[in-house]
Amino acid sequence: MRLFLAIEPPPELRARLGALADLARAQCGGRRVPDESLHLTLAFLGEVETARVEALTEWLQGVSPEGGEWRLDSWGTFRRPGIVWAGGKTPDPALTALQARLWDDLESLGLGGRPSRFVPHVTLLRRARRLALDALPPIALAWPWRRLTLLRSFTEQDGPRYEALARSA
Ligand code: ATP
Ligand code: MG
Repeated sequence: MRLFLAIEPPPELRARLGALADLARAQCGGRRVPDESLHLTLAFLGEVETARVEALTEWLQGVSPEGGEWRLDSWGTFRRPGIVWAGGKTPDPALTALQARLWDDLESLGLGGRPSRFVPHVTLLRRARRLALDALPPIALAWPWRRLTLLRSFTEQDGPRYEALARSA
C-alpha cells in the first residue's frame, strides 16, 4: 500500500489553510485540495508491503517528538506538477531535524526513498493553470504540532484520499 508520514493541521488551521486554497484556486485554477486532505508530508514512503505495516505502526507509536510551532509565511510553487503551496520562506529547523531523524529510523526499518532535499509545505492546489502568486495576500499562520500520522493514500474516482493507519504517542 502507498504510505506517507505527515502532520495533520488542527481544525482551526485546517479551515484557514482551506481559505488560502480557495484564494489560490481563484487566481491560479487547477484542483483544490479538499480541507480534510490538507497536511504536511514529512516522509513519503511509497509502496510498502502489507507485512511491514505492523512494524511501522509499532515504531510510530513509540515516537514522541517534542513538537513545535511551524510558522507559515510564504506561498510557493513546484512548477512541473503545477503545485501551489503554503509554507515557510526558509525551512523550519525543528521540522528539518524531525524529518532527518524519521528517515534515520525508517532506514533502520529497511525502508528506502530518503529524498535529497526537504521543503516543508502544504499543497493547496494541483495542476494549477497559472502559477501567479503576486495577487495573493501575505500568509501569517502558526501551526502548533506534536503528533505524526501514518497515512495510506489511495485513489478514488474524484481524486486522492488518505486514511490514517497509526499515530505517534
Ligand atoms: P495524487 O498523486 O494522486 O495526485 P497525492 O499526491 O495527494 O495524490 P500521493 O502521491 O500518494 O497522493 O502522495 C502523498 C503525499 O506524499 C503528498 O503529500 C505528496 O505530495 C507526497 N509525495 C508523493 N510523492 C512524493 C515523492 N516522490 N517525494 C516526496 N513526497 C511525495
Ligand atoms: Mg502525488
